[in-house]
Amino acid sequence: MDITLLKRAASVLIMITVLSGCETTNLEAVPAQLGKASSMEQLRASLTRPGTIEFTKHLSANWEINLSGLLNLEHPKAIKAGLEDRSEPIEIYLYSLSHPTRGNYLVDSGVSEKLLPGSTESDLSYLVKMGMGTDAIKVNSTTKSIASKLEEGVKGVFLTHIHIDHILGVSDLPKDTPVYIGPGDAGLTNVTNAMVQDSTDRLLSNAGILREWQFKSGDEEEASVIDIFGDGSVWAIHAPGHTPGTTAYLINSTDGPQLLTGDASHTRWGWEHQVEPGTFSENPQQSVISLNMLEQLVKEFPQIKVHLGHQSLGG
Ligand SMILES: [Zn+2]
Repeated sequence: MDITLLKRAASVLIMITVLSGCETTNLEAVPAQLGKASSMEQLRASLTRPGTIEFTKHLSANWEINLSGLLNLEHPKAIKAGLEDRSEPIEIYLYSLSHPTRGNYLVDSGVSEKLLPGSTESDLSYLVKMGMGTDAIKVNSTTKSIASKLEEGVKGVFLTHIHIDHILGVSDLPKDTPVYIGPGDAGLTNVTNAMVQDSTDRLLSNAGILREWQFKSGDEEEASVIDIFGDGSVWAIHAPGHTPGTTAYLINSTDGPQLLTGDASHTRWGWEHQVEPGTFSENPQQSVISLNMLEQLVKEFPQIKVHLGHQSLGG
């Protein structure tokens, strides 16, 4: 076969791979042993008891990204407000939870030392750096520095979902730190993954395997939830749409209940106007349902403090 034919065959093969898409990651996903499926009724009951978790929100980095990805600009409310696509400042968070007997856990992973200026190591491919503009990420506090202040280390990481900007800190944690994810995120096949899969694999490699929350799909009216420690202190709430496994967390902290929405709502404007995320999301209809469900919970229990995916609410 001549060289031109070989090149043509190779580019056809690449095209086929890109068009048919790739899974999010090659890492194995197994059912999580931690947590048990419960009910919204039990979650609501837990909100009436004093919280036991020491909760801290950390600003790990600042970044900016297209507003059209974060917010559905075609929503009538966004049109009415005259919102147009622009580069929107966002923040990358990490939350630490200290349970009185079960140790320290993180929600999402912040950013690692590899994102510091001058670092010679990177888990991100050239394509991801160029395509997502990750060189613009400005580190405020690395995951290593945050984790080093937690006595007895980190027992595990609860991810809101598998997207690059939520897994940038996993490599700062010890090897085999358990990482928990929502169902369907690891195996999701789409075209974007053809570009980001190798970077995702490297970023998550410290986890070894991924542990999937075992939500039970029950009653259609109510969200599926998991009581993570079996004592009503920390809850995983299935909030699909942005990704199939997107998971919000409700923490009954010593400072009152805290809701971490993950990217079920990225922006302050989106939460305040009840407008769902934009083009970065997999399933817009599901995003609307999940956002509504979280907003309803907070209306019912206004003492809940809300922490959005990438911006903070004032006050
Ligand atoms: Zn995301």
